[in-house]
Amino acid sequence: MSTNDNTETPDKPTESVDFIRSIVAKDVASNKHGGHVVTRFPPEPNGYLHIGHAKSICLNFGIAAENNGKCHLRFDDTDPTKEDVEYVESIQHDVKWLGFDWGDNLFHASDYFPRLYDFAVELVKKGKAYVCDLSLEHMRMMRGTVKEPGQASPNRDRSVAENLDLFARMRNGEFDEGSKTLRAKIDMAHPNMLMRDPPLYRIRKTPHYRQGDKWCIYPMYDFTHCLSDSLEDITHSICTLEFENNRAVYDWVLDTLETKARPHQYEFARLNLSHTVMSKRKLLQLVREGLVDGWDDPRMPTIAGLRRRGVTPEAIRTFCEQIGVAKANSMVDLVQLEFSIRDDLNRRVPRVMAVLRPLKVVIDNYPAGDGEDLEATNYPDDPPKMGSRKVPFSKILYIEESDFMEDPPKKFFRLAPGQEVRLRWAYLITCTHIVKDDSGKVIEVHCSYDPETRGGNAPEGRKVKGTIHWVSAQHAVDAEIRLYDRLFSVAKPDAEEDFKKAINPDSLETITAKVERSLRDAKPGERFQFERQGYFCRDSEITDRLVFNRTVALRDSWAKMVKSGTT
Ligand code: ATP
Ligand code: MG
Repeated sequence: MSTNDNTETPDKPTESVDFIRSIVAKDVASNKHGGHVVTRFPPEPNGYLHIGHAKSICLNFGIAAENNGKCHLRFDDTDPTKEDVEYVESIQHDVKWLGFDWGDNLFHASDYFPRLYDFAVELVKKGKAYVCDLSLEHMRMMRGTVKEPGQASPNRDRSVAENLDLFARMRNGEFDEGSKTLRAKIDMAHPNMLMRDPPLYRIRKTPHYRQGDKWCIYPMYDFTHCLSDSLEDITHSICTLEFENNRAVYDWVLDTLETKARPHQYEFARLNLSHTVMSKRKLLQLVREGLVDGWDDPRMPTIAGLRRRGVTPEAIRTFCEQIGVAKANSMVDLVQLEFSIRDDLNRRVPRVMAVLRPLKVVIDNYPAGDGEDLEATNYPDDPPKMGSRKVPFSKILYIEESDFMEDPPKKFFRLAPGQEVRLRWAYLITCTHIVKDDSGKVIEVHCSYDPETRGGNAPEGRKVKGTIHWVSAQHAVDAEIRLYDRLFSVAKPDAEEDFKKAINPDSLETITAKVERSLRDAKPGERFQFERQGYFCRDSEITDRLVFNRTVALRDSWAKMVKSGTT
């Protein structure tokens, strides 16, 4: 990052400020809204939050915090057919877990139903809204096209008195679902199709999870959102680009009702991640159809899934900061999220040894019996972070199957007949011979060890290039390891005719591993680096046995290719 000579904010170069933050800064400087900043995060409780929501959460709560302002958490709960308290609770939990606090500012659009109803009556009285008998489908057909104006509803010129009467009766439950709506009277020829008399209220005879059966008419998004913002004195209403055209309706409603507070809507590009779907409708399908193991399946892009996978809130926040806030839609590669996760875990988690695909090694010249305890450092690359543990060593060990080759290529520096390798924290060993089963598969590797190399130190002048991890067979613990890969095998599952057909059949592989003794005491949710394998987290849901989720591999496959090409 280049230096700048702005002495007021020396550690915040101005070029890193996104366009929304610049607007907010300008408004604060010009004392617009009395210099106050109030933002909001307005989820609909119809699903769990995902990494895309995290971007919006970081932006809204971030801007509020940076400007000494407030960020409201508002449930946009106006569709009783899709909403549930389970979602409300998970959303609150996830926002808190991400590290944000709405304080006393928890709101529900459904609490505004009486006031929204009054606003609607006011529009009717002003001759700016009418009750329409067309079905939503019929309405859509009459809306015209971008090139042609729409047709007026036969009910467009109902008198104010008739509209007031019909709207009251809608509220009283006298009409069937779908038989009537309340529509704004704007302009059926408006170039913005959303301005062609949008519906403001519809009939829904479904009890609401908070309001019970108090209401049988429910306000639409375009009517609810702007008025909720205004009722809460939101100064900057930040939403995603797909609502750009809705801004005209937003402004029309507030202007026509001449509301006291007059918030402004700003749109930014939503986060799209490769190999991922983020529409709640699609995520719900995955859950309902059992294609994943619930909303918190570690393969899901949900906050709950990422948490269960072992991702930290800091990694998600850093990722959101790094992707930035732009005005044009784009796609972020999943590799970038994985990079943030790895970078964060690398600094914070201890290293341990676990053998995922065990191959038996017998040290023929080592005494049988209990063996010995060796000292292993928990943070080998980070001297200020100390800590070590004892790892048991004995005559029979397990190493990774892939760390032995009977007939190795030239640059294979691990174990092979006649070849010496370092066992991490232990000894140098040399392979003397091997034992195969009837099918020719290597089932035992016999070695001799050099007692002079305790701790894994090679004597002066002896070069040992390879270091491998291991566990002592008699001390190791069995653990179930879940190796996750991306849930979709194509970069843009949304572009497929059926996104479910693009599910990666190998997105989960479950194996039984041999892990070092200390992991017996791993706490649910505790994170580790399994040396040379990746980052793992003890599952927080299954606790009656040892289950570890792979959060992320040590390197992405692309980096691995580059590396092997240069060594
Ligand atoms: P759906 O997927 O059902 O269309 P949604 O994801 O927009 O809905 P909301 O609950 O309405 O769900 O979202 C709450 C807020 O999060 C909105 O302000 C929305 O703009 C924002 N948001 C949703 N998805 C993303 C995303 N991918 N990137 C950034 N912000 C998002
Ligand atoms: Mg939405």
